[in-house]
Amino acid sequence: MKKTDNDLKILRHSAAHLVAHAVLELYPDTKLTIGPATEEGFFYDFLPKQTFKEEDLPKIEERMLEIANRNYPITHREISKEEARKLYHNNPFKLELIDGIEGDTVGLSCQGDFCDLCRGGHVESTGQLKHVKLLAVAGSYWRADRTKQALQRIIGTAFFTEKELNDFLTQREEAAKYDHRKIGKQLDLFSFHEEGPGFPFFHPRGKKVLNILVNYMRHLHDKYNYQEVSTPTMLSDELWKRSGHYAHYKNNMYFCTIDERNFAIKPMNCPGSILIYKSRPRSYRELPLKLAEFGHVHRHELSGVLHGLLRVRAFTQDDAHIYCTVNQIEQEVTTLIKIIKDLLKVFGFDNIQIALSTRPENAMGSQELWNTATAALSDALKNAKCEFTIAEGEGAFYGPKIEFVIQDSMGRSWTCGTIQVDFMNPENFDLTYTSSAGTKERPVMIHQAIYGSLERFFAILLEHFKGQLPFWLSPTQIRILTISDSQNEYAKKIEAILKENGLRVEIDDSSDQINSKIKNAQLEKIPWMIVLGQKEADAQTVSVRYLDGKQKMGIKIEELVDQANKLKVF
Ligand SMILES: [Zn+2]
Ligand SMILES: [Zn+2]
Repeated sequence: MKKTDNDLKILRHSAAHLVAHAVLELYPDTKLTIGPATEEGFFYDFLPKQTFKEEDLPKIEERMLEIANRNYPITHREISKEEARKLYHNNPFKLELIDGIEGDTVGLSCQGDFCDLCRGGHVESTGQLKHVKLLAVAGSYWRADRTKQALQRIIGTAFFTEKELNDFLTQREEAAKYDHRKIGKQLDLFSFHEEGPGFPFFHPRGKKVLNILVNYMRHLHDKYNYQEVSTPTMLSDELWKRSGHYAHYKNNMYFCTIDERNFAIKPMNCPGSILIYKSRPRSYRELPLKLAEFGHVHRHELSGVLHGLLRVRAFTQDDAHIYCTVNQIEQEVTTLIKIIKDLLKVFGFDNIQIALSTRPENAMGSQELWNTATAALSDALKNAKCEFTIAEGEGAFYGPKIEFVIQDSMGRSWTCGTIQVDFMNPENFDLTYTSSAGTKERPVMIHQAIYGSLERFFAILLEHFKGQLPFWLSPTQIRILTISDSQNEYAKKIEAILKENGLRVEIDDSSDQINSKIKNAQLEKIPWMIVLGQKEADAQTVSVRYLDGKQKMGIKIEELVDQANKLKVF
């Protein structure tokens, strides 16, 4: 039978119990806390007597395998809270967990003589947990709260088969080699500073790439009739109360008080866009109205989850909102799917998985409205000839959505591209338009993000291309390397012609030897090097050296421009 994501989660959570079991056998004075499954595996947070070190992991892992081989059945039973409190009388974490559970009983999971407080969801026996690997130790805090007890986290992963585990480990090694944080430093693209934890600083070359991504999106906006707007970074907290962010997202927002009025820094751009929609009466003739914004948003994340540009506290979204009628959803989404697929293809993301998320239990809006909107999304996907899966009940409570998941060159999956239908905000903000019959009607909102976060997309690209961005996206596309000073004048002439043709070019006329000039350009991943010697200057031609080591000698400058133009994406 095919294993589902949920089966994998159950396996990994069971492996978390296994590491706890092994740790208790080896270090009996350790206090247990919690051990959930994660996206890539699992972790368990401990309060040990001593600090765990990387060197301890092989011993713990060995004991895990031993317990796996003992093949204990994993049982689950409900016990009274009173009994549980006795069992954990000297473990304050478990006591706090017991108090937090509703009802009179709590679950207890046991294997051999090891038991752990747990609501359940495990494999049948420890024998099924043979393909496990411990990956790291890290510091953590109880309840992820810095003011609370410091804990020790052991991070690991588990798979159903040895092959799956080995594939994962190979991929992980590869990914570490091309970590975007490493590439960012090597290529001088961005940095982070203590003065702004989680807020990226973009250096000239990094900013250049971001600008190209933005300009490409602007080109698509123009082509498909989007209009760009810009809304303030800071808005009154009344707005965030009305939008529901205050109730649901307050802990991730930054606030300030000015002239005794409370403001919040925007975590999303939607409410600002809505105020523009509401700035005057709207007619059906204006719909669909497509307002796009490159909105810089701030979201407070726990410091433990920050990860280079992949997880930051401030980022730019390529956000857009389509205001339309229910009947227009299908047409709009069909176009949008085409835009997303075409864009992803440009970056070489051909393997795209698409999921349509449907009505969850606690949904707002009538069943009829949901049916119509969900059918519109599904028809749009069919119009665009897309294969897709249905994520039953996984939609947001305010509308169905489509998500695009890409696979990068190292086989990792990333969600890029979201189309979210929204019935809630038009209600909350009382959005209306005048229909052809003169009646006031409620529009639907569609939220779209294609790159999602520009910063995150940049990080994905850097790792996907292993630092070697395609020609059209490279901050410096061409570097002219002179062999001696006597070619300086010719180099300037070539530079002027290339610049006139919109190419990003620079000259290395330093006193370095030509070989070290080539080496530097290669390290900086500059796609084309033009090597100029006296022979080229005399013949008024150029020699090009590509990053892969291939060379072309004696080309006319016009030919080179033609060649570059062929690589243009927009
Ligand atoms: Zn459990
Ligand atoms: Zn939005």
